[in-house]
Amino acid sequence: MELSIYNTLTRDKQVFKPIHEKEVKIYTCGPTVYDFAHIGNLRAYLFMDTLRRVLKYNGYRIKHVMNITDVGHLVSDADEGEDKMIKAARREHKDPFKIADFYTNIFLEDMKKLNIDMPDVIARATEHIKVMEEYVKKIIENGYAYETENTIYFDTSKLDKYGVLSNINAENQIAGARVEFDKNKKNATDFAIWIKAPKNHLMKWDTFWGECYPGWHLECSAMSNKYLGDEFDIHTGGIDHIPVHHENEIAQGKGYCGKIPAHYWMHVEFLQVDGKKMSKSLNNLYTLKDLKEKGYSPLDYKMFNFASHYRKKINFTWEALDTAKISLKRLKEGLKKHQEGNEQIEENVINDYEQKFMEAINDDLNMPLAMSVVWDIVRYPKKSIQLSNLLLKFDEVLGLQLDKDEEFSEEIPNEVQELINKREIARKEKNWDLSDKLREQISLQGYIVKDTKDGAIIEKI
Ligand code: AMP
Ligand code: ZN
Repeated sequence: MELSIYNTLTRDKQVFKPIHEKEVKIYTCGPTVYDFAHIGNLRAYLFMDTLRRVLKYNGYRIKHVMNITDVGHLVSDADEGEDKMIKAARREHKDPFKIADFYTNIFLEDMKKLNIDMPDVIARATEHIKVMEEYVKKIIENGYAYETENTIYFDTSKLDKYGVLSNINAENQIAGARVEFDKNKKNATDFAIWIKAPKNHLMKWDTFWGECYPGWHLECSAMSNKYLGDEFDIHTGGIDHIPVHHENEIAQGKGYCGKIPAHYWMHVEFLQVDGKKMSKSLNNLYTLKDLKEKGYSPLDYKMFNFASHYRKKINFTWEALDTAKISLKRLKEGLKKHQEGNEQIEENVINDYEQKFMEAINDDLNMPLAMSVVWDIVRYPKKSIQLSNLLLKFDEVLGLQLDKDEEFSEEIPNEVQELINKREIARKEKNWDLSDKLREQISLQGYIVKDTKDGAIIEKI
């Protein structure tokens, strides 16, 4: 059966045709690791998970790369505002590299809790500065960039058209442009690809242009190119990436090798609260930890997401999350009833369900429709292990761990346990310096040690 997906680039639903017959290459814009991910951010990665699972269900092999933006990223997507990493470093009185490590670990833990099928490559920007440098040099050689005193800008006027993704009209943009940040910028849509670091800048690297740091958009172009080549199949991100970040990735791809990097661009809509985007700036966010404190598991939140299509806004309410929690419980109970049943189900009933489920997921990942098929199976009057097996097969796409009673295991990872053991020994030896250092390392892994008179207690941060 054909898989159709909505392509932001062409603004229509298309039959998916990969470049290589059975292998799909995907790039996902990952998080900027300057704080805890909120459940709005996590919606974007749940979408990524469903996409991966649907592709696998269709028999494709996947090569998937996601970046971690740990070099800083200005508060605004355009070249304005404060650097998010530096701001966090100031807020927490910590080295920005440590902040990045800390929040990267927490993010990866959140992914595990949501049972997200992880990308094959998780590329940290700080480990790819050389790759980015080479990418910038080629853009310059190809004549698509110019230097000002402190910045190398991408020259959007050199392109056949800037704005192919959001279909913006660059001239209108110029006419309505904000007060320019840098007077030396030639066109309103030009953007920074390489930036000279001011003397006291904390995250900088010695490069061909002196001590610099890369532009945010450039990170993704250079890393996707390194792992997936000049052209790959699918690029994903949130809808906020369409007008600037992904537009600029396309511009860079054209400047680097004359090609739009991905054939399909897929974007997930926002999670909202009271009709407004969930975001740090509006201070209306929740994390998985907030959900847990109110008795909701990460998979309850995953279930909540399946009630809406990924291209539709969802309004977050505790009532809706509660409904999802109850539904997940009923779904698991329904599965058990079938597991205990021994009635015979006609083959055409099973085939019909398989067909309907596949049609739903292959229609641009229509998860609400796919869930309605799941509920029909749960409610089927005859109880049969054939139907529970079918539900478990569908769970390869849902990733709800339907056959597990417990919530996702909260076991302490081995590396953290080792640090805890070492710290116990250090404390017994009254080596307080070492004990403090180990506490700090434990906290970088996302755990906090509390010393009580009955011994140390470990909690997740
Ligand atoms: P950031 O760490 O800010 O780069 O964001 C990480 C991802 O979360 C991006 O793909 C954003 O598009 C996405 N995102 C941010 N806020 C929301 C939201 N309220 N709902 C859905 N996705 C979001
Ligand atoms: Zn990106």
